[in-house]
Amino acid sequence: MANKFVYFFGNKTADGNGTMKQLLGGKGAGLAEMTRIGLPVPAGFTITTEVCDLYYKNNKNYPDGLEAEVLANIDKLEKTIGKKLGDANDPLLVSVRSGAAISMPGMMETILNLGLNDKSVEGLANKTGNRRFAYDAYRRFIMMYGSTAMGIDREKFDDIFEDVKNTKTRARLNIAACKKVGDTDTDVNELIEVVNSFKVLYKKELGEDFPQDPIKQLWGAIGAVFGSWMADKAITYRKVENIKGVVGTAVNVMQMVFGNMGNTSGTGVCFTRDPSSGENVFYGDYLVNAQGEDVVAGIRTPIKLSDFEAADPTAYKQLVDVRNTLEKNFKDMQDMEFTVEEGKLYMLQCRTGKRTPMAAFKMAVDMVNEGLITKEEAILRIKDRDIEGIFYPIIDISEKDSLKKAFLVSGIGAVPGAAAGRIALNVKNAEKMAANGDKVILVRKETSPEDVGGMHVASGILTATGGKTSHAAVVARGWGKCCIVGCEALKIDYEAKTVSVGETVLKEGDNITLNGSTGDVYNGSLKLVQPALPESYTTIMKWVDEIRKIQVRTNADTPYDAKKAVELGAQGIGLCRTEHMFFDTEERILAIREMIVADTVEKRVKALDKLLPFQRDDFKGIFEAMNGKPVIIRLIDPPLHEFVPHTEAEQKQLAEKIGIPFDTVRLRVNQLHEANPMLGHRGCRLAITYPEILDMQVRAIIEAACIVKKAGIPVEPEIMIPLIIDDKEFKLLEKRARNVADTVIKEQGADVKYMVGTMIEVPRAALRANKIAETADFFSFGTNDLTQMTLGMSRDDAGKFLPDYVDERKAAVFMADPFQSLDQDGVGELLRIAIEKGRSTNPNLKLGICGEHGGDPATIKFVAGLGLNYVSCSPFRVPIARLSLAQYEVEKNKK
Ligand code: ADP
Ligand code: MG
Ligand code: MG
Repeated sequence: MANKFVYFFGNKTADGNGTMKQLLGGKGAGLAEMTRIGLPVPAGFTITTEVCDLYYKNNKNYPDGLEAEVLANIDKLEKTIGKKLGDANDPLLVSVRSGAAISMPGMMETILNLGLNDKSVEGLANKTGNRRFAYDAYRRFIMMYGSTAMGIDREKFDDIFEDVKNTKTRARLNIAACKKVGDTDTDVNELIEVVNSFKVLYKKELGEDFPQDPIKQLWGAIGAVFGSWMADKAITYRKVENIKGVVGTAVNVMQMVFGNMGNTSGTGVCFTRDPSSGENVFYGDYLVNAQGEDVVAGIRTPIKLSDFEAADPTAYKQLVDVRNTLEKNFKDMQDMEFTVEEGKLYMLQCRTGKRTPMAAFKMAVDMVNEGLITKEEAILRIKDRDIEGIFYPIIDISEKDSLKKAFLVSGIGAVPGAAAGRIALNVKNAEKMAANGDKVILVRKETSPEDVGGMHVASGILTATGGKTSHAAVVARGWGKCCIVGCEALKIDYEAKTVSVGETVLKEGDNITLNGSTGDVYNGSLKLVQPALPESYTTIMKWVDEIRKIQVRTNADTPYDAKKAVELGAQGIGLCRTEHMFFDTEERILAIREMIVADTVEKRVKALDKLLPFQRDDFKGIFEAMNGKPVIIRLIDPPLHEFVPHTEAEQKQLAEKIGIPFDTVRLRVNQLHEANPMLGHRGCRLAITYPEILDMQVRAIIEAACIVKKAGIPVEPEIMIPLIIDDKEFKLLEKRARNVADTVIKEQGADVKYMVGTMIEVPRAALRANKIAETADFFSFGTNDLTQMTLGMSRDDAGKFLPDYVDERKAAVFMADPFQSLDQDGVGELLRIAIEKGRSTNPNLKLGICGEHGGDPATIKFVAGLGLNYVSCSPFRVPIARLSLAQYEVEKNKK
């Protein structure tokens, strides 16, 4: 037999099962599984997602054989149930539902009551003895079919219905003009009138009669489900949610059951545990005498499950049994939809329930304690988003109305969480407001390294330009600080000190609130709530550390960040950048500038001598904070140009302060200008030209280490030379660094061990790794620069074209942004080469990664497989890295 396109379920047997989500979609797999384990599910069949894929690959034509298979399954369904579609006495009705492997809410509306026509509606009326019910079902069907499948504007149906209610029903029941007429107030004659008018509308809109043949109706509905897969909103949803590798939607056709047959019927939605707290309590809503969409549409307020128990204990008891069976079977919290038809329960859907981060931890721990799952399974169940989620403050969303009113504009949510505060348009004002004790939101067109101070004091950051890898986003993410970027509709006027969106104009100092999880910006200061760290988090992280084998370090430049990271589980510093330290105070900036404009070695050394004590103090602070944990310190990296003033006024001021002619300063600044600074005079190239800088930095590091060591605190300094491309270059600098270090250790008479290594961030270094490793103690992969240089793409400019390289409809070279998640095929290959070559000449070589990628779960698992000793990431990503490394071990052992 060729491919099987259709999978039947019914009578406690099913062609499929719960593991077949890819092929049957989540809904189809759940229905098959529930049927298989004996739960009460109306019979039906699922047309596979593969058919959807073939349909699009084949110019919107169904594959050969599908039609026959669907008809055979209809036949089987009719025999199973003992009713026929379109039957004039006792018709079978079905629902037609979409369902992909990943749930895509709101993608397509479900079509209910299919199979009704002018004859079978009378059959349904006779059989149920309820003509009103039958015509109510018919009017719902014509409307759903006409709008969902055939594209008639839904409002046109609503208008007709409203019109009948407002004239006929209102007059018959004498309902006052000020009161609304409910759907349930209509009587059978009015519903028949609605049905007739609907059919007239249908013909007018489409030029043909409403189809009476149920098989024709069925194909219309199936076509509508497949059509919805490529609707704009579905494509956008997949793009926004970054859903990849899902080939299409399945179509589920199943027997209708009726929750609207009176007071012993109803419909509901429930979760096997509380999805918001994670508590092991049954949780849900039930609506008496209602059909599916009524619950969601909010036509009537549903009752709690406890009230359902009181109202209908027998039906409730059946539901509780299902709850227990389902959790035992799936070993996870399930979200289920059900209907009760005259006291009998039917299950219509089940899936793994969405949960808050808090609930994710609580349920995972509880289920281990209940013996339902193992610790390893619990670890696999936590998502990196869950960890992020429990740390960030959130907007109190209980006040929906005020949220709606305050909404201002949307950008790209770069760092989740929320922040409220006063608008500051530059660093100086941000710092001033923060010093006054105000909460600040820094609002900029974009940010640059000079803004870092203002970003640090701000509670949140909002930029008009840039994407998720822009400067603002990367820095904010490092701090776990709420950030929205690329808010294009925002007009920022630095001179007028205003921020406007359309008509709304806000002044600097006005309050706004950011929701970094959604990218929404609100006018005014909304209430934020801080979720407390639950005990279950601590428990899970204990298990995580027992299982993982690879270390986690952090990227931290200050003792504050270092301490924070250690609290979050960091076992060392993988990257301490030294250049931020130069910006810290006026004095320091002046000293570094004096060093840069110096025109002789003597003058440069004199200026460097002024910097030495500052750097030594900084390193001391970091060593103390790390208390014996290893610390990699990177020698100065950026081009000197970044440190000098660029306006004439500032340059004049500098000249005056250090007592040299203005022209000398200006000339020097001009000399430093580079066409392409990223590939210019920076990194170790600075030390090649000005070895005194290296001398000073190494001295500061080792003196600090000696002082700390003598005070009784263990230290492990590791000196990292950036941007190396060759072993000759490395050996020159490495020897010089060791000389200085050994001299200082002798001077100080302290017993300090240190290491010297390099950052591998230029492709050439990866290719020459065997030579470099001869004298290097360690490599740290600087994957930000390595990615830029391997791809030949500047991270700061990539926003313009990189999205096309990720878009499934365009080039699709990468599965994800290669600056966020490592390009494993290209950059990853260089890592592999460098590791193999490096270890070939130095088996003890210590290996780590310190780019932004060090906090990305996919990258972490990939580099773990390459045999790194540690990954290093920003403090707030440390718990995520710990989790990912534990998941790596669990997944490895499963294979
Ligand atoms: P969604 O994917 O939006 O959840 P569903 O396919 O689950 O849409 O359908 C929505 C609702 O329609 C269901 O929750 C259920 O109440 C109702 N429904 C669907 N199929 C049937 C059926 N065979 N019998 C009764 N009600 C149904
Ligand atoms: Mg549903
Ligand atoms: Mg670099």
